[in-house]
Amino acid sequence: MIPFEIYDTTLRDGEQAPGAAISAGKKLEIAVGLTALGVDTIEAGFAAASLTDCQSIDNIARNCRGVRVSAFARTKLSDIEAAANAVRKAEHPRIILVMPVSDLHIRCKLGLSREDALALLSQSIHDARKGCAEVEVIAEDATRSDEQFLHAVAQTAVGAGAFALTIADTVGYATPEDIGQTFQGLFTAVPELSEIMVGIHCHDDLGLATVNSLAGVRAGARQVHCTINGIGERAGNASLEEIVVATRVRPDRYPYQCNIKPENLWSLSQLVAETTGFVVAANKAIVGSNVFSHGSGMHQDGILKAQETYEIFPPQLVGAPGRQLPVTRHSGRKGLAARIAGLGIEIEETRLQMLMDNVKEAGLNSAIIGDVELLSLLRRLPKH
Ligand code: MN
Repeated sequence: MIPFEIYDTTLRDGEQAPGAAISAGKKLEIAVGLTALGVDTIEAGFAAASLTDCQSIDNIARNCRGVRVSAFARTKLSDIEAAANAVRKAEHPRIILVMPVSDLHIRCKLGLSREDALALLSQSIHDARKGCAEVEVIAEDATRSDEQFLHAVAQTAVGAGAFALTIADTVGYATPEDIGQTFQGLFTAVPELSEIMVGIHCHDDLGLATVNSLAGVRAGARQVHCTINGIGERAGNASLEEIVVATRVRPDRYPYQCNIKPENLWSLSQLVAETTGFVVAANKAIVGSNVFSHGSGMHQDGILKAQETYEIFPPQLVGAPGRQLPVTRHSGRKGLAARIAGLGIEIEETRLQMLMDNVKEAGLNSAIIGDVELLSLLRRLPKH
């Protein structure tokens, strides 16, 4: 098993999603939850953004023990000083410096030449190390950058004493094949990289964030950036729960191990959804409300005989409340009978069939027949 670290950025990149603002108090509550979940690093926020952000990072740094606390900064002295100050009280403080590396970002956004960008990076790492021993560099838009220049960035980061270098697929453009090639190229051109922590940071614009993150680990990354429920800019960041559970369910393909306690995933997912107002889609992998809910007759029958027929992991693995077999017009008699029995009612075969017919009729109007409606349908059956 190859060990890898979970770097959670729910409170920074996740919160950057438009409309996901989280109050300082709730941020601490989520950070406590992340610590209990077993993440290795919590990226607590962007200190230079506001005084409130500084205070909330400081609050997390003081209160969360046994976990690294990281603060985000651009390659600007004022950002770096704010970040260093905000994480100062952490047990294991870290500054994460964002460095754009694609020509598009360097030229259009920073208005710099490649040479100036490298000099700025080197200077910024030195500045950051004065305030915080552990400095991570995140190479922004690395997957659309020139390969040689990305290697020069990696060399500069290692040379200036960075603790970690993370390759970011900032706009979710890469494929798993691209990620593999990028890392292979990097480790070959810059062998010194094997002496520091190398990370991967993916976004889900093409729905590839999870598989790209796993491809990163396969290619040598030992730290994965991700967020709870995959919240984040645009289509979101790589989803923590998807990466973790994929390694649990498919160790044959993903023999990677992290410190996450998956039984805490469900409750933290709920907390993040409530706090941000970003409702988890019913069909969201791992934590969607339909993940352990089976509506069709064929599936209900299978599940009642053996859970493995239609579930590749049980609700207990992720701390989900349990399995549901909702009655819908797609339900079969086995599922309906189980549900009726669950209500403590005995029903004979002929009446069960009549009830089934009525359910199918009622089910055209309402997607799921709840207990109240089911009992009402039962009462309306003709007497013997
Ligand atoms: Mn990002």
